[in-house]
Amino acid sequence: MRDTLFSGERAFKHLEKLAVEIGPRPSGSREERRAAEYIASEFEDLGLKTTLQEFEVTTGRVVSKRLEVLEPYSEEVACEAIPLMGSTGPEGVAGDLLYLETTDEEYLTPEVSGKVILTGRFNRREIRLLAKLKPLAVITIEASPRTLPKHLWGMPELREKYGAIPALRVSYEDGLKLLERGARRVRVVVETEEEKVRSQNVIGELEGSQRPEEIVLVGGHYDTVPEVQGAGDNAGGTALVMELARVFKEKGTRRTMRFIAWGCEEMGLRGSIHYARRLREEAERLRKERPEEEVETELDRIKLTINLDVHGAFLGTNFARVLGPPELTAAVKLLSKEVGVAFEVKEGVYSSDGTSLSSVGVPSVSFGRGGGSNVFMHSVEDTIRWLKPQALQVQGEFVERFLTRYVAQAAAFPFEKKIPEKQRKEIEDYFRKRLMLRPP
Ligand SMILES: [Zn+2]
Repeated sequence: MRDTLFSGERAFKHLEKLAVEIGPRPSGSREERRAAEYIASEFEDLGLKTTLQEFEVTTGRVVSKRLEVLEPYSEEVACEAIPLMGSTGPEGVAGDLLYLETTDEEYLTPEVSGKVILTGRFNRREIRLLAKLKPLAVITIEASPRTLPKHLWGMPELREKYGAIPALRVSYEDGLKLLERGARRVRVVVETEEEKVRSQNVIGELEGSQRPEEIVLVGGHYDTVPEVQGAGDNAGGTALVMELARVFKEKGTRRTMRFIAWGCEEMGLRGSIHYARRLREEAERLRKERPEEEVETELDRIKLTINLDVHGAFLGTNFARVLGPPELTAAVKLLSKEVGVAFEVKEGVYSSDGTSLSSVGVPSVSFGRGGGSNVFMHSVEDTIRWLKPQALQVQGEFVERFLTRYVAQAAAFPFEKKIPEKQRKEIEDYFRKRLMLRPP
């Protein structure tokens, strides 16, 4: 007899609804809202205590994008614009092309000013260094011939701090061609619109029957980068969260499980940062108001976060990233061996919503699927074509087993609520240096 209830087929239906029927769900968009309403109505149908937690974000839309070689030949080159980085206006900007093979600081000279920069590297560090030198625009080349131009969000915080840089991405092959053919002068058009909008986390709570005050979060983000179905990243993870909610509604649980679909992850973990920050602020306020009492705050009650990000690829390998006590890592490894589902288990930061919770002291395990079609992540090829119910089944069953054993049925909660010092430092660096955002 099967000892699990998880159905990959059911989960796949949610995935289809999100990735195909609703389609691209950019952070803060109307489609993101539509997806949130779908998830909320499914949670409500299950009888979970359902809420939408709203928060404000700056979002952007690409109105037009174009890259044209003007000299010594004319040609239009396929490209993707990065919203929230800077706009050239509808006419665009024309300038000399300068290729930067390295963005080491000593090679960045005033020559960069007023040029269109072509480079393979354009991360937060490059934005900071280049913005000072005021290039006209930046064209960034994908790192591998197998990857399509990535659709990514820029960050309004970086632009405000360092200045605007209109930015495009081109494929590896097109980047190579620009160099081989000696493109000298180009025109870049990146026209974007921005607005402050509301986004939301969708929360569905299943109260524990014996230990309702001990809470475990099970979440995954449901938004996408612009113009991308986001089937693997992360309609797949959201579908797992939704199906697991059904499973535990049926099975019951001693501890409270809170199922959360995070908004605006692709823009820099906005939904989970908002959630974690509110918990921390509330805890600090309560302790200040009642210093003489041993107050138990909502944050104290949350014992663990399971984060599901990037799922469903038929070809691929399973991994888990753990932030928390050693016994948590050991538990994932032991279960993996016991049931014969291979996972690459490591400790450290995974760039996703679990890390926001770990930043305020809640251990997290992020499950995902790497390799295979995940090369398409953040590109228009991240479609349902590469995904299968069987892949959801394997991960879904594994997480169901993990939650059943350690959360729903455990006599005593087995994991200490502790983030080792080394990991805390790593989390702090991740927020400040990589995301360039204040940790929650
Ligand atoms: Zn993701």
